[in-house]
Amino acid sequence: MATTLSPRLERLDSPLRAAVADGPDGYCGVAPDEHWAEEVRRLLALRGATLLAHNYQLPEIQDIADHVGDSLALSRIAASAPEETIVFCGVHFMAETAKILSPDKAVLLPDERAGCSLADSITADELRAWREEHPDAVVVSYVNTTAQVKALTDICCTSSNAVEVVASIPADRTVLFLPDQFLGAHVRRETGRQNLHVWAGECHVHAGINGEELAAQARRNPHAELFVHPECGCATSALYLAGEGAVPKERVKILSTGGMLDAARELGAARATLSRSVLVATEVGMLHQLRNAAPEVDFQPVNDRASCQYMKRINAAALIRCLADGLDEVFVEPDIADRARASVSRMIEIGNPGSGE
Ligand code: SF4
Repeated sequence: MATTLSPRLERLDSPLRAAVADGPDGYCGVAPDEHWAEEVRRLLALRGATLLAHNYQLPEIQDIADHVGDSLALSRIAASAPEETIVFCGVHFMAETAKILSPDKAVLLPDERAGCSLADSITADELRAWREEHPDAVVVSYVNTTAQVKALTDICCTSSNAVEVVASIPADRTVLFLPDQFLGAHVRRETGRQNLHVWAGECHVHAGINGEELAAQARRNPHAELFVHPECGCATSALYLAGEGAVPKERVKILSTGGMLDAARELGAARATLSRSVLVATEVGMLHQLRNAAPEVDFQPVNDRASCQYMKRINAAALIRCLADGLDEVFVEPDIADRARASVSRMIEIGNPGSGE
C-alpha cells in the first residue's frame, strides 16, 4: 500500500498532531474531548472532506461522522458525495471498496493497518486455484474481500442479499461462495442448493459468538428477541433453538447490520410489544447505533468481548494524524478496480443492494 501524498493532500498544521504516538495497538495520545471534536471538524473543513464511519467504530468516531452505516452503504455515499476527499473510518477492504466506486476521489483510511481476518481468509491466488478446480462455476463473494479477490469474482453479495444473489444463478450452475462459512451455510439452508461450495473462512470476532453463549443468554432472558448477524457462529444455533421451540421462532431475526437498525426502529415504535429487550449477536460497536435508534429498548450483547481490534485502531489519535498528514491514502490498480467494480455492479443489477457488515 503506497503512502505517497496526492497533490490535494498536503500536510496541515494541527496543535494536536504532536501528541499523537504510535503504540502497540495503534495510534494513541489524544483524548476524544470537545477540543478534539472541534479540531476534527476544522481539519475536515480545510480539506473539504467528508467523514464516514462504520457501525462497529468507537462511539466517539460514530458521533463525529457525517454518515454512519455498513460498508456498502458508506461506499455508495462516498461515490455520490460532493466532496473530493473521503475519510473512511472502517477497515482496509471497506476503504478499498469506496475507492473502487469513487476512482477519482482521494480515499483516506486513518490507519492502514486496520485489516480484517475475514477478508484475509482467502487470497487472490487461492481463489484462482479454486476456480481452476471448478472451471464452469459462478463465483459469489461477500463484500468483505480484498479488491484483488473482487476482481476474480462474478457477483458480489452482502449479508442481506446473499440468498437473492445465489437464487438468481441458474440451478444447474455450480456456485463457489466465499469467504464466510457461516454466511455460506445460511445461504445453503435458505436456497436448499446442493451445488454450492463454501470456502471455510471466518471472522474471528463473529466466530467467537457461539451457540452455547447464545443458548445460555436466551434461557436467562426468556422474553428477549434475538438479533443475529449471519456471519456469527451462532446463526445456526439460533435457528436450531427456534426449531426446537427453545426460543419462539418469531423472536429470532437473522439480520444484516442495516436490517438490525430497521428492526430496532420498528421495535421502538411498537409501544404495545411485549419484548423490550434484545440480545444482539454481532460486534459490540453495533450497540451504540441500536441504542440511539431505539433508546427505550434494552439492547445487550450476546458476547461483550466480541470487539474487533482492527476497527478499534481508528481512534481519536488516528483521526488527527490522518487529517493533519493526509494519510493513509488507499490506492487500487485501475484494471483491478475496473474488474472489481463490475462484480459489485452485477450485484446491484440483481436488485436490493442491501447491506452487509
Ligand atoms: S468484525 Fe470481523 S469481519 Fe468485521 S472487520 Fe473485524 S475482523 Fe473483519
